[in-house]
Amino acid sequence: EVLADQIAAGEVIERPASIVKELVENSLDANSKQIDIIVSQSGLDSIRIIDDGAGILPDDVPIAFKRHATSKIASREDLFKVKSLGFRGEALPSIASVADVVLCTSTGDETGTKFQIRGGVVQSNQPAQARRGTDITVTDLFFNTPARLKYLKSPQTELTQITDIVDRLALANPSVAISFMHNDHEILRTPGNGNLQQVIAAIYGISNARKMVKFDGEDADFMISGYTSLPEATRSSRQYISIMINHRYIRNFQLTKALIQGYGSKLMVGRYPISVLDIELDPVLVDVNVHPAKREVRISKEEQLGQLIATTIRQRIAQENL
Ligand code: ADP
Ligand code: MG
Repeated sequence: EVLADQIAAGEVIERPASIVKELVENSLDANSKQIDIIVSQSGLDSIRIIDDGAGILPDDVPIAFKRHATSKIASREDLFKVKSLGFRGEALPSIASVADVVLCTSTGDETGTKFQIRGGVVQSNQPAQARRGTDITVTDLFFNTPARLKYLKSPQTELTQITDIVDRLALANPSVAISFMHNDHEILRTPGNGNLQQVIAAIYGISNARKMVKFDGEDADFMISGYTSLPEATRSSRQYISIMINHRYIRNFQLTKALIQGYGSKLMVGRYPISVLDIELDPVLVDVNVHPAKREVRISKEEQLGQLIATTIRQRIAQENL
């Protein structure tokens, strides 16, 4: 079973940033209002996530580390209307199969649990005092999979990857206060008051945030909203475009293209906006079960959605020039 978990880990856990993503998504799924991410040495030393979410009941803790154990999906039908970020039940067993994990958790109603697992082998499981929420620490990443360890890029690159993930998670969840510390240095802190523009300012700087305009649009199937930069405040890379579907950050070339098309000739060649685009749709219109890390999704009526995005942006930018 540990071997199967390690194989799954190969798909879900590529690098420290994947661990941060999976753990923060778990915290978000647990309805946390505050999530603190504390990383040292680009995650190679340790990754710790503290949340104030629902916590896990003592009996459920060992189960959470079993493959395909998820509390989020009860039936086949649920798979077609996934609202939570997780649902495959793969993250915790995958992480635990290639690292050392200590989890302290409590639902707040009864005694909490301290659980330790290393390379898929349970080291200890005992009652512990804990406030409501979950505090998980991952160390010794890839200690038993040296090939994975060798594949990692420079510490700077790994840190950039983590920062990138944290930024998108924060942009997708402005109502959650997220902090990110690296080697005792604060990289990000969001207020968690639901104000997306303040999250944008925390990530891209206040002056960039000021050069962005709010937009929204809808048709029979989709509601879109967000902020996008004026044509004069653009970047030379499209990586400052973030697209979220129902609060899940996704990558989608067609939708990115549609957003850029909305600018028409107002965008100089090789220039791209800073944008945060939130799409709300009925979960039945999106299949998130395409990619193990769930970055890519399949959207029904994608062309129609692209049209809506392009039109909304075009009208909003035109308005600004009046
Ligand atoms: P998934 O997120 O796909 O359900 P995971 O392996 O990531 O699978 O997590 C397994 C289970 O552990 C979750 O379904 C959830 O019940 C529980 N869990 C994990 N992290 C947390 C957390 N931070 N707070 C509350 N419950 C958690
Ligand atoms: Mg998960």
